Amino acid sequence: MTSTIDPKTIGKPQRARRHVRTLTGYLPEVDATGKEHWPRGEEAVWKSALRDVDADSPAIIKSIVNHVQTSLARQAYNLDDLGAYQAAALSVRDNLLVNWNETQLSYTRKNPKRAYYLSLEFLMGRTLDNALLNLGLKEQYRDSVKKLGFSVEDILDKERDAALGNGGLGRLAACYLDSGASTELPLWGYGLRYKYGIFQQLISPEGNQLEAPDPWLENSNPWELPRLDVNYEIRFYGHADRLGDGKGIWQGGQEVLAVAYDVMIPGYGTKTTNNLRLWESKPKRGFDLNSFNAGNYEAAVASSNSADAITSVLYPNDHTSCMYRIGKELRLKQQYFWTAASLADILRRFKQQGKPIRELPDFVAIQLNDTHPTLAIPELMRILLDEEDLNWEQAWSIVTNVFFYTNHTVLPEALEKWAVPLIEHVLPRHLQIIYDINLFFLQAVERKYPGDRERLARMSLIEEGQPKQVRMANLAVIGSRKVNGVAELHSDLVRTTILKDFVDFEGVSKFSNVTNGITPRRWLDQCNAELSDLITKTLKLEKEVWLKDLFKIKGLLEFTEDAAFRKEWWAIKQRNKERLAHYVQTTLGLTVRTDAMFDVQIKRLHEYKRQTLNILGVIHRYLTLKALSPAERKKTNPRVVFFAGKAAPAYYIAKLTIRLIVNVARIVNADPDTKDYLQVYFLPDYSVSLAEVLIPASDISQHISTAGTEASGTSNMKFCLNGGLLLGTVDGANIEIAEEVGESNVFFFGHLTPAVEDLRYQHLYHPVPLQEKCPALHRVIEQISAGLFNDAEVYEPLLNTIRQNDYYLLSDDFDSYIAALAMVDEAYQDRDEWIKKSIRTTAQMGKFSSDRAILEYAESFWNVEPVTVKKK
Ligand SMILES: *Cc1c(COP(=O)(O)O)cnc(C)c1O
Repeated sequence: MTSTIDPKTIGKPQRARRHVRTLTGYLPEVDATGKEHWPRGEEAVWKSALRDVDADSPAIIKSIVNHVQTSLARQAYNLDDLGAYQAAALSVRDNLLVNWNETQLSYTRKNPKRAYYLSLEFLMGRTLDNALLNLGLKEQYRDSVKKLGFSVEDILDKERDAALGNGGLGRLAACYLDSGASTELPLWGYGLRYKYGIFQQLISPEGNQLEAPDPWLENSNPWELPRLDVNYEIRFYGHADRLGDGKGIWQGGQEVLAVAYDVMIPGYGTKTTNNLRLWESKPKRGFDLNSFNAGNYEAAVASSNSADAITSVLYPNDHTSCMYRIGKELRLKQQYFWTAASLADILRRFKQQGKPIRELPDFVAIQLNDTHPTLAIPELMRILLDEEDLNWEQAWSIVTNVFFYTNHTVLPEALEKWAVPLIEHVLPRHLQIIYDINLFFLQAVERKYPGDRERLARMSLIEEGQPKQVRMANLAVIGSRKVNGVAELHSDLVRTTILKDFVDFEGVSKFSNVTNGITPRRWLDQCNAELSDLITKTLKLEKEVWLKDLFKIKGLLEFTEDAAFRKEWWAIKQRNKERLAHYVQTTLGLTVRTDAMFDVQIKRLHEYKRQTLNILGVIHRYLTLKALSPAERKKTNPRVVFFAGKAAPAYYIAKLTIRLIVNVARIVNADPDTKDYLQVYFLPDYSVSLAEVLIPASDISQHISTAGTEASGTSNMKFCLNGGLLLGTVDGANIEIAEEVGESNVFFFGHLTPAVEDLRYQHLYHPVPLQEKCPALHRVIEQISAGLFNDAEVYEPLLNTIRQNDYYLLSDDFDSYIAALAMVDEAYQDRDEWIKKSIRTTAQMGKFSSDRAILEYAESFWNVEPVTVKKK
């Protein structure tokens, strides 16, 4: 179904262009009499804005035109959609900056306790539409842009996604920033300004994933503000000496400059505009002038390259172990560079208040998003011991009251570890501190459990082996005040499995839960404006009210029995399907039928998320349809199945799943017997912007991880908020969604978490041949093996993961999965009841607003309170 695709056109939803514009098309037309005709928009509007002084044109138009002329050095004659986007964005940025300044000033004056969210990833997506919404200027800009001859949809489409993240973890960070500003919390984010975000995914003619770089800064980024004056020197390598009393000194090595870039984060319906500070690495003195003078040009450039390299790329891994086995030095340098710069910045801000350092925990809370920023713990110890001259107890008591750690996975292979020799080489002083922390910690454990050597080995920060490794999760736990998982089930698993020893030792109250959330601004109002309007109209509430208190949408429940309302609800779903079909038509040239059920699974490709189970289920459906008579087929429920997601570039099995999906799509979509009843699409280059088109169009979405493996999931929340029903396993936040919306409105299947360990044990020690255990799955696998979807031998390694130990339990869950799919079909036939389920689902998603989640962090962890920034 897919052929080679131009990387410039993929993954960026393009609406239909009403007219093709070329630069020359903007030159003034000169008629026969020699009179020039204005190129675009309303001539009077442009001219009055161009007259600069005492122009009576509206402020927004003036500001856009001003940016066209000055920032872009262009004119109406040569302004294309991209230029109009840039000018509009710069003009919106001016508004944000005013609020940003007010906010920072009010924080400085009031001096509240502040929270900092340290995340190696922020998957922001596009900004312009969100900024307009949050500023309440959407309609004004729409009108202004129109008067200047552009359509707001076209210019919104010109923005590239800021894709500085892999998936859920990075998107969560972005939702939390939006909610932090919207609930007026003094919350800043700290991350890295990668020159290249997550790779662009291309699909080769054979169906293989290819990766291309994502040069997202190519057209300049109007949303960031370089702060060249905010910079810190960050050291690597060198040597460390101990000075007694736990103190030490670290000298020599390489120094790299961290330079701040600020991204403004506007709150919805508030004046609060918080900051996301991203660090860029730079060589400390530009070129190494000595080498340059000596004529050693290459060495001079090389040293500059290695400093630049630190923030050049985002590592494209998500819950995979490949990276940690390779033990990439550059990744370790990224982590330290970012935590050290962020801490230096936080401490500088704290010190400006003139408070003693022991009061740090009264003014600063730092949330560690996964273990990636764990080096902040030994780094703060280093500063307090070696630079602030505190003793060990004082320093450790400050550290353990400042940090909070969020765990994101219980998959053992995804727990972060770093080789001791590598840390020793890159961060020699930090290794000493880690060893000291470990010594004091294990002494305390030994006192509580004398002689329990196995327990000591399990809890140690150092894993024995060749080489020894530092267990970052253990370090994060003992260095933090609180530890949380991201959904109830996941937090329970954390407490009872990977961190059980720590719960026994430190007491359970340190280990809690904050169920993830999503921002309803982006994931409902922006991506599904029609549904948002219908909700506003129906609830008879201002949209600002329910978008900030999402529990209010429960009021929709009253309207499930209102046939006219149901009709409108369904018509909107239909238009969203057509919008998606249009996207597929314009980007891939394929025609999607929109009178079918839309079944969507979009997320990172990973064995635990089981896209393989889904495509095997699709093949089962295909074989079943083929065996039916034409008359029987007509009675079936037509289905269009969408997949999207990237695989880590080195994740061979996940890439084979993509290849299988693409080839199944090719065969199935071309089969005249079945193509009216089953279509399959793999949409390349999954991104936030693509999610915004797919999610509102879904009837059913799949969240089918092996029980106990998906920490929470957040796309499940996005779909349900948009009235898509959920087909899933009893895992992660699926469970809490079902609790909220009612089990009768979700489709659950599969084994439960407690069974998983036993099943795996059986696979290893009492294997049953697939043919006996699950004939239906066996038949499907045999067809792939026989070449029904081309290149039979290519898929063998993927099929063998199931035939052999089947770690993710596809053979155990296949039959109940097929049964659940049949129940979905049946439920969809009763259309009225389906629409009621859809309404009930949306109505009961209030809990999953990220506003609720961020306030839980603020209240029960950070002790940080909202600060109202006065509206002028
Ligand atoms: C929400 C989101 C995710 C997370 O999806 P899950 O299904 O929860 O893993 C990943 N990528 C993007 C672009 C998202 O918007």
